[in-house]
Amino acid sequence: MLRRPRLYRSQEALVANYQRLCDLASGAECAASIKANAYGIGIDFVAPRLFEAGCQTFFVAHAHEGIRLRQYVPEARIFVFHGLGADAVETFTTHRLQPVLNSLEDVARASGHHLSPAIHIDTGMHRLGISTDDLESVFEHLSASECALVMSHLSSADDTASAMAEQQCRAFQYALEQWPQATPGSLANTAGVLRDSSFHFQMVRPGIGLYGGSPDPRDPKGFQSVVCWEAPVLQLATVKSGEPIGYGGQFKANREMQVATLATGYADGYLRCLGDRAAVALDGVRCPVVGRVSMDLVTVDVTEYVNQGGSVREGHWVEMLGSSISLDELAVHADTISYELLTRLGDRFELIET
Ligand SMILES: *Cc1c(COP(=O)(O)O)cnc(C)c1O
Repeated sequence: MLRRPRLYRSQEALVANYQRLCDLASGAECAASIKANAYGIGIDFVAPRLFEAGCQTFFVAHAHEGIRLRQYVPEARIFVFHGLGADAVETFTTHRLQPVLNSLEDVARASGHHLSPAIHIDTGMHRLGISTDDLESVFEHLSASECALVMSHLSSADDTASAMAEQQCRAFQYALEQWPQATPGSLANTAGVLRDSSFHFQMVRPGIGLYGGSPDPRDPKGFQSVVCWEAPVLQLATVKSGEPIGYGGQFKANREMQVATLATGYADGYLRCLGDRAAVALDGVRCPVVGRVSMDLVTVDVTEYVNQGGSVREGHWVEMLGSSISLDELAVHADTISYELLTRLGDRFELIET
């Protein structure tokens, strides 16, 4: 047996999440944000299955991600968030990529090339996008009929206490009304889809919900986990009370402890800060992580499991993330968001499709 961590990727969960987002989108087209290798899950797995489920439009960050995506979804529309770099027209044309034009420089570069671009309007996030004051300059370079999409991005749609999302939504509505010709609009990420239909316009472009996470990990939204991460036990030891476990020895057993050492670590994306904080699951029984997380190893206290009559042996599979330990829970333990956890998944996994 080759003892390496394994990652199950579930088509059923992915498609169920997509269907749920389509249903929530109240008639708007449901596109998919699939940047960063589908948030670490793999575009080879995600893209063809979403396309088969009816998704016709994909968004990536970089043009080179779009080039790779093109081979998996030859028929789909692919938009590139990061705009049109200098001298990039030929690449976009060859691979049939559509740039999201974020600045007047982008717009000028696109002029005359029939790239069916999207125009990104800055509605207050001040990260990327063209100011609503500059709309007229856009049409000096492009005709309104050439634009395939008008979009903007929400900065805090998951925070219902903040008025920011409503302000952005109104600013976006205003920009669409100024548009000389009826053009589809797109504003909503996952958090925007979960808000009311006034955020949906003609197209939504969720990411994290497709992959099983929530925009705010402290406010789980019930998406199904697309990945399940398991690691095998390499060794089982009895550690006496007072003895240290792992690097630095900062964790000391406060009683006699059954400790299992698992073959996965921060090189696989199990963040180092999860040491002494997170739990894993053995046959559904939660077992705390004890001591520091190493590059390739994690030590867990399995005493409770053993006391309940469980027997742990070498090669026993332990769930790091999946049905018992949710992505959102792990993100809370790591003081981060589910997006970061997924995009840190390493490349040492045995990949299994279910
Ligand atoms: C990543 C991204 C999305 C998707 O956001 P989620 O929160 O993952 O749903 C949508 N739009 C833009 C511009 C993005 O960068």
